[in-house]
Amino acid sequence: MLKQLAYLKQRLEPSRSVYLDHNATTPVSRRARRSMNRVLKKQFGNPSSIYRLGRKSAALMEQAREEAALAMGANPGELYFTACATESNNLVLHSLFQLFHPRKKKILSSPMEHPSVIKTLEYLERQGAEVVYCPVDPQGRLMLQKLRELLDDQTFLVCVMLANNDIGTLQDIPAIVEIAHKQGALVLSDCVQALGKVPVKLNEWGVDYATFSAHKLYGPKGVGALFARNGVPLSPMIHGGSQEDGIRAGTESVHNIVGFGAACREVDRLLDKAPRMEGLKEKLFKGILSIRPDVVKNSPAEYCLPNTLNVSFPGLRRQEFMAVLDRYGIAVSAGSACGAKKQKASRSLQAIGVSDVAMTESIRISLGIHTTRKDIRHTLRILKRYFKGRIHHVHLVSAGEFRKHLKEDPLLLDVRPGFTRKNGKAPVGSLEIPFQSLHRKVDELPRDRSILVFCSKGNLSFLAAYYLKGRGFDKVGSLEGGLKGLE
Ligand code: PLP
Repeated sequence: MLKQLAYLKQRLEPSRSVYLDHNATTPVSRRARRSMNRVLKKQFGNPSSIYRLGRKSAALMEQAREEAALAMGANPGELYFTACATESNNLVLHSLFQLFHPRKKKILSSPMEHPSVIKTLEYLERQGAEVVYCPVDPQGRLMLQKLRELLDDQTFLVCVMLANNDIGTLQDIPAIVEIAHKQGALVLSDCVQALGKVPVKLNEWGVDYATFSAHKLYGPKGVGALFARNGVPLSPMIHGGSQEDGIRAGTESVHNIVGFGAACREVDRLLDKAPRMEGLKEKLFKGILSIRPDVVKNSPAEYCLPNTLNVSFPGLRRQEFMAVLDRYGIAVSAGSACGAKKQKASRSLQAIGVSDVAMTESIRISLGIHTTRKDIRHTLRILKRYFKGRIHHVHLVSAGEFRKHLKEDPLLLDVRPGFTRKNGKAPVGSLEIPFQSLHRKVDELPRDRSILVFCSKGNLSFLAAYYLKGRGFDKVGSLEGGLKGLE
């Protein structure tokens, strides 16, 4: 049975894989991997221990701090390691709220921020903070005159990201710092998407706090950093030991921190590669435009990350489209990875005035330093075939549509392998053909009836539906999210 499953999967497996979702995460660079392996192999000492083994770990960590600080235009003493950028953003926001509230209540931010900022701001609002979102222009850039008007002596923090993850807009952080400081407000900038793609010069810009994440710049997951300018207020959110100068208790993840440092050592090299990446992005967009002249570019023409392209295709069934791309080994995103599973509207697109419909028709393509011309060609080839109707479309059916379809008496095909059948009850009258047996029973299926395929989570059924399409079955749909979605 496992052999047959492997056979079917292999037949449906893409021959090429093109990763175009670098804003979600990046592959770990060889340099980062090697330096981490060395630590895992030999340097297991706790950096807080005073004997030699511990001191060695502490020294490696301090070296990584220097490398990271150098890449960010900061001093090593101003950098704290955390578990991720989400934690770094939370740390600054919670800490400043505790320090300033109720003396000062107001935080100014932008509607373009990442959920790790927006959700925290929403939480703080419930605790009594006044959060005001400064409007942005159609390119997503903060309206600086509005910012000046909104700032007052109640404002203790201005929180604006340097580079947006969804559409790629770059903000004028030095100008924002100047305006905020004039009113005595501190500035936090989420620089997660910027490091390694555009120059980051924290001290030159005078920014007070900045946050980073290693896995966005070819480093490991599970380590972030927080920059806090010398002398600015900051208090811990996690209490315990005195690690990270008492700001972030908990034994440090030495191998991850070393990997972060190694990734930062390559920032100049990454910046050198940015123009090439931007050239490929332009080539991709031109290609898309020639296939779909009605495509709408949501990313700004100017002040944009070199790797990020967000576009809307009028009339696109996004889930279906993305599933087809996945089938051909192409990974793109419908927005930030954190919101992808919930299919939430993108705040960034909302903020620049993209309509609700166009938002559901949008995709984010983010290139990386390893993206090649061949990758772009392959992507354009598949897009062309898809939009010319030369690729089998598998209709992804939502739970609501599934229930409606039931009235039309389709053949309900349950492709769950036997051992997963106990989790979830199939609709009455379903035909059970486990995925791995489908190729043997395919000729027994009716060709004149529509077929709705389902499984537990929606992935096997998609492959099965795709297989049936390839075998000439016309009306095939796959239940999106599987039986779980019906519960
Ligand atoms: N800020 C931005 C702009 C991001 O894109 C992300 C991740 O997608 C984060 C913060 C959160 O980073 P982490 O995954 O390290 O928590």
